[in-house]
Amino acid sequence: ILRVENLSKSYGDLEVLRSVSFDVYKGETKAFIGPSGTGKSTLLRCINQLTVPDDGHVYLNGEEITHSGSKINEYRQKMGMVFQNFNLFDHLTAVRNVEIALLKVKKMDKAAARKKAMFELERVGMADRADYYPAQLSGGQAQRVSIARALAMDPDVMLFDEPTSALDPELKREVLEVMRKLAADGMTMLIVTHEMHFATSFASEILFMEKGEIVERGSPADIPASPSFERTRAFMGTYE
Ligand code: ATP
Ligand code: MG
Repeated sequence: ILRVENLSKSYGDLEVLRSVSFDVYKGETKAFIGPSGTGKSTLLRCINQLTVPDDGHVYLNGEEITHSGSKINEYRQKMGMVFQNFNLFDHLTAVRNVEIALLKVKKMDKAAARKKAMFELERVGMADRADYYPAQLSGGQAQRVSIARALAMDPDVMLFDEPTSALDPELKREVLEVMRKLAADGMTMLIVTHEMHFATSFASEILFMEKGEIVERGSPADIPASPSFERTRAFMGTYE
Protein backbone atom coordinates (compact mmCIF):
# COMPACT_ATOMS: atom_id res chain seq x y z
CA ILE A 1 0.00 0.00 0.00
CA LEU A 2 2.99 2.27 0.72
CA ARG A 3 6.46 2.05 -0.74
CA VAL A 4 9.33 4.19 0.53
CA GLU A 5 12.36 4.08 -1.75
CA ASN A 6 15.80 5.51 -1.00
CA LEU A 7 14.43 8.47 0.89
CA SER A 8 17.16 10.96 1.79
CA LYS A 9 17.11 14.31 3.52
CA SER A 10 19.83 16.62 4.77
CA TYR A 11 19.74 19.86 6.68
CA GLY A 12 22.95 21.59 5.71
CA ASP A 13 25.76 19.17 6.49
CA LEU A 14 23.54 16.98 8.61
CA GLU A 15 22.28 13.87 6.85
CA VAL A 16 19.03 13.20 8.65
CA LEU A 17 17.78 10.39 6.39
CA ARG A 18 20.16 8.19 4.42
CA SER A 19 18.48 6.25 1.69
CA VAL A 20 15.66 4.77 3.75
CA SER A 21 13.57 2.10 2.02
CA PHE A 22 10.73 -0.16 3.12
CA ASP A 23 7.35 -1.42 1.99
CA VAL A 24 4.16 -1.40 3.99
CA TYR A 25 1.42 -3.84 3.13
CA LYS A 26 -2.25 -3.30 3.82
CA GLY A 27 -3.13 -3.96 7.44
CA GLU A 28 0.46 -3.88 8.69
CA THR A 29 1.61 -1.90 11.69
CA LYS A 30 5.22 -0.84 11.59
CA ALA A 31 6.83 0.56 14.73
CA PHE A 32 9.87 2.83 14.40
CA ILE A 33 12.13 3.21 17.36
CA GLY A 34 15.56 4.70 17.91
CA PRO A 35 17.50 7.41 19.69
CA SER A 36 16.46 11.04 19.62
CA GLY A 37 17.50 12.96 16.52
CA THR A 38 17.85 9.95 14.22
CA GLY A 39 15.27 11.20 11.76
CA LYS A 40 12.10 9.37 12.78
CA SER A 41 9.88 12.44 12.67
CA THR A 42 11.60 13.60 9.50
CA LEU A 43 10.83 10.22 7.93
CA LEU A 44 7.09 10.53 8.65
CA ARG A 45 7.10 14.12 7.43
CA CYS A 46 8.87 13.13 4.22
CA ILE A 47 6.31 10.39 3.63
CA ASN A 48 3.41 12.82 3.56
CA GLN A 49 5.56 15.57 2.05
CA LEU A 50 5.19 17.97 4.96
CA THR A 51 8.95 18.00 4.48
CA VAL A 52 10.25 17.68 0.95
CA PRO A 53 12.90 14.95 0.71
CA ASP A 54 16.13 15.64 -1.22
CA ASP A 55 16.03 12.30 -2.91
CA GLY A 56 13.98 9.14 -3.18
CA HIS A 57 10.38 8.25 -3.85
CA VAL A 58 7.20 7.53 -1.96
CA TYR A 59 4.37 5.57 -3.58
CA LEU A 60 0.87 5.22 -2.18
CA ASN A 61 -1.24 2.50 -3.79
CA GLY A 62 1.27 2.40 -6.64
CA GLU A 63 1.07 6.11 -7.40
CA GLU A 64 4.08 8.32 -6.83
CA ILE A 65 3.34 11.04 -4.32
CA THR A 66 6.78 12.63 -4.33
CA HIS A 67 6.86 15.36 -6.99
CA SER A 68 3.09 15.09 -7.33
CA GLY A 69 2.55 18.85 -7.28
CA SER A 70 -0.91 20.00 -6.33
CA LYS A 71 -2.22 16.45 -6.14
CA ILE A 72 -0.33 16.13 -2.87
CA ASN A 73 -3.34 17.44 -0.93
CA GLU A 74 -5.40 14.56 -2.22
CA TYR A 75 -2.74 12.06 -1.18
CA ARG A 76 -2.29 13.69 2.20
CA GLN A 77 -5.94 13.10 2.98
CA LYS A 78 -5.20 9.42 2.53
CA MET A 79 -2.50 9.58 5.22
CA GLY A 80 -3.87 10.49 8.64
CA MET A 81 -1.23 12.13 10.81
CA VAL A 82 -1.28 12.13 14.61
CA PHE A 83 1.28 14.26 16.45
CA GLN A 84 2.75 14.17 19.91
CA ASN A 85 1.02 17.41 20.92
CA PHE A 86 -2.44 16.68 19.45
CA ASN A 87 -2.62 19.82 17.25
CA LEU A 88 -6.33 20.36 17.93
CA PHE A 89 -8.04 23.70 17.33
CA ASP A 90 -8.49 25.16 20.84
CA HIS A 91 -11.51 27.25 19.91
CA LEU A 92 -13.47 24.29 18.54
CA THR A 93 -15.22 21.52 20.47
CA ALA A 94 -14.15 17.91 20.00
CA VAL A 95 -16.84 17.15 17.46
CA ARG A 96 -16.13 20.39 15.55
CA ASN A 97 -12.45 19.49 15.43
CA VAL A 98 -13.33 16.15 13.87
CA GLU A 99 -15.89 17.44 11.37
CA ILE A 100 -14.14 20.61 10.20
CA ALA A 101 -12.13 18.92 7.43
CA LEU A 102 -15.19 16.93 6.38
CA LEU A 103 -17.04 20.20 5.83
CA LYS A 104 -14.20 22.26 4.36
CA VAL A 105 -12.17 19.69 2.47
CA LYS A 106 -14.60 16.89 1.70
CA LYS A 107 -17.50 19.34 1.27
CA MET A 108 -19.89 17.07 3.13
CA ASP A 109 -23.20 18.54 4.20
CA LYS A 110 -23.59 19.40 7.88
CA ALA A 111 -25.71 16.43 8.86
CA ALA A 112 -23.49 13.88 7.14
CA ALA A 113 -20.32 15.44 8.59
CA ARG A 114 -21.76 15.43 12.10
CA LYS A 115 -22.84 11.82 11.76
CA LYS A 116 -19.40 10.76 10.53
CA ALA A 117 -17.65 12.80 13.26
CA MET A 118 -19.78 11.19 15.96
CA PHE A 119 -19.11 7.76 14.52
CA GLU A 120 -15.34 8.33 14.73
CA LEU A 121 -15.57 9.79 18.25
CA GLU A 122 -17.51 6.70 19.25
CA ARG A 123 -14.75 4.55 17.79
CA VAL A 124 -12.14 6.12 20.09
CA GLY A 125 -14.47 6.17 23.10
CA MET A 126 -14.97 9.93 23.09
CA ALA A 127 -18.60 10.36 22.00
CA ASP A 128 -19.60 11.51 25.48
CA ARG A 129 -17.07 14.36 25.29
CA ALA A 130 -18.13 15.62 21.87
CA ASP A 131 -19.05 19.08 23.15
CA TYR A 132 -15.95 19.64 25.26
CA TYR A 133 -13.21 22.02 24.22
CA PRO A 134 -9.61 20.74 24.06
CA ALA A 135 -8.73 22.60 27.27
CA GLN A 136 -11.44 20.62 29.08
CA LEU A 137 -10.00 17.28 27.99
CA SER A 138 -7.18 15.24 29.48
CA GLY A 139 -4.15 14.67 27.28
CA GLY A 140 -5.27 11.13 26.54
CA GLN A 141 -8.75 12.30 25.61
CA ALA A 142 -7.38 15.08 23.40
CA GLN A 143 -5.15 12.57 21.64
CA ARG A 144 -8.09 10.25 21.04
CA VAL A 145 -10.00 13.17 19.50
CA SER A 146 -7.06 13.85 17.20
CA ILE A 147 -7.03 10.18 16.20
CA ALA A 148 -10.77 10.43 15.45
CA ARG A 149 -10.09 13.53 13.35
CA ALA A 150 -7.53 11.65 11.27
CA LEU A 151 -9.80 8.61 10.93
CA ALA A 152 -12.69 10.77 9.72
CA MET A 153 -10.89 11.27 6.42
CA ASP A 154 -10.94 7.51 5.82
CA PRO A 155 -7.17 7.32 5.40
CA ASP A 156 -5.38 4.38 3.80
CA VAL A 157 -2.50 4.78 6.25
CA MET A 158 -2.21 6.34 9.69
CA LEU A 159 1.07 7.99 10.67
CA PHE A 160 1.67 8.41 14.41
CA ASP A 161 4.60 10.47 15.70
CA GLU A 162 5.11 9.62 19.36
CA PRO A 163 1.40 9.84 20.06
CA THR A 164 1.78 8.99 23.74
CA SER A 165 5.04 10.62 24.72
CA ALA A 166 3.38 13.75 26.12
CA LEU A 167 1.06 11.69 28.32
CA ASP A 168 1.15 10.36 31.86
CA PRO A 169 1.38 6.58 32.13
CA GLU A 170 -2.35 6.05 32.88
CA LEU A 171 -3.29 8.18 29.89
CA LYS A 172 -0.85 6.45 27.56
CA ARG A 173 -2.71 3.23 28.11
CA GLU A 174 -6.06 4.50 26.83
CA VAL A 175 -4.47 5.89 23.66
CA LEU A 176 -2.47 2.72 23.08
CA GLU A 177 -5.64 0.66 23.51
CA VAL A 178 -7.31 2.70 20.78
CA MET A 179 -4.31 2.11 18.51
CA ARG A 180 -4.26 -1.57 19.28
CA LYS A 181 -7.92 -1.78 18.33
CA LEU A 182 -7.26 0.03 15.06
CA ALA A 183 -4.48 -2.42 14.24
CA ALA A 184 -6.81 -5.32 15.02
CA ASP A 185 -9.45 -3.77 12.74
CA GLY A 186 -6.94 -3.88 9.88
CA MET A 187 -5.79 -0.26 9.74
CA THR A 188 -2.36 0.22 8.16
CA MET A 189 -0.17 2.18 10.55
CA LEU A 190 3.32 3.61 10.94
CA ILE A 191 4.11 4.45 14.54
CA VAL A 192 7.12 6.27 15.92
CA THR A 193 7.15 5.33 19.56
CA HIS A 194 9.12 4.71 22.68
CA GLU A 195 6.47 2.38 24.11
CA MET A 196 8.36 -0.79 23.37
CA HIS A 197 6.26 -3.20 25.36
CA PHE A 198 3.02 -2.03 23.93
CA ALA A 199 4.25 -1.49 20.39
CA THR A 200 5.75 -4.93 20.23
CA SER A 201 2.48 -6.39 21.38
CA PHE A 202 0.71 -5.36 18.19
CA ALA A 203 3.28 -4.24 15.61
CA SER A 204 3.88 -6.47 12.59
CA GLU A 205 7.46 -5.27 12.40
CA ILE A 206 9.86 -3.20 14.49
CA LEU A 207 12.33 -0.99 12.64
CA PHE A 208 15.21 0.40 14.60
CA MET A 209 16.67 3.65 13.26
CA GLU A 210 20.03 5.13 14.00
CA LYS A 211 21.61 8.17 12.34
CA GLY A 212 19.10 8.29 9.54
CA GLU A 213 19.21 4.62 8.64
CA ILE A 214 17.19 1.53 9.43
CA VAL A 215 19.89 -0.52 11.13
CA GLU A 216 17.82 -3.43 12.40
CA ARG A 217 14.36 -4.72 11.63
CA GLY A 218 12.30 -7.76 12.41
CA SER A 219 9.16 -9.11 13.94
CA PRO A 220 8.58 -8.31 17.61
CA ALA A 221 9.08 -11.96 18.46
CA ASP A 222 12.56 -11.99 16.89
CA ILE A 223 13.98 -9.09 18.79
CA PRO A 224 14.61 -10.67 22.17
CA ALA A 225 16.11 -13.80 20.64
CA SER A 226 18.28 -12.64 17.80
CA PRO A 227 21.88 -11.66 18.49
CA SER A 228 21.71 -9.22 15.61
CA PHE A 229 19.28 -7.17 17.64
CA GLU A 230 21.88 -6.18 20.15
CA ARG A 231 21.57 -2.49 19.44
CA THR A 232 17.80 -2.56 19.64
CA ARG A 233 17.91 -4.44 22.90
CA ALA A 234 20.48 -2.09 24.35
CA PHE A 235 18.27 0.81 23.37
CA MET A 236 15.12 -0.82 24.73
CA GLY A 237 16.91 -1.52 27.98
CA THR A 238 17.18 2.18 28.66
CA TYR A 239 13.38 2.41 28.59
CA GLU A 240 12.64 -0.48 30.87
P1 ATP B 1 13.06 12.52 18.51
O1 ATP B 1 13.07 11.08 18.98
O2 ATP B 1 13.78 13.42 19.46
O3 ATP B 1 11.71 13.02 18.14
P2 ATP B 1 13.65 12.17 15.69
O4 ATP B 1 14.25 10.84 15.41
O5 ATP B 1 12.20 12.34 15.43
O6 ATP B 1 13.99 12.56 17.19
P3 ATP B 1 13.98 14.32 13.81
O7 ATP B 1 12.99 15.22 14.43
O8 ATP B 1 13.58 13.65 12.55
O9 ATP B 1 14.48 13.21 14.84
O10 ATP B 1 15.30 15.15 13.57
C1 ATP B 1 16.48 14.61 13.04
C2 ATP B 1 17.54 15.67 12.97
O11 ATP B 1 17.20 16.64 12.00
C3 ATP B 1 17.79 16.42 14.28
O12 ATP B 1 19.17 16.56 14.47
C4 ATP B 1 17.14 17.75 14.05
O13 ATP B 1 17.79 18.74 14.76
C5 ATP B 1 17.25 17.94 12.54
N1 ATP B 1 16.15 18.72 11.98
C6 ATP B 1 14.86 18.34 11.96
N2 ATP B 1 14.09 19.26 11.36
C7 ATP B 1 14.92 20.25 10.98
C8 ATP B 1 14.73 21.49 10.30
N3 ATP B 1 13.52 21.88 9.87
N4 ATP B 1 15.83 22.26 10.09
C9 ATP B 1 17.05 21.85 10.49
N5 ATP B 1 17.29 20.70 11.13
C10 ATP B 1 16.25 19.90 11.38
MG1 MG C 1 10.63 12.99 16.57
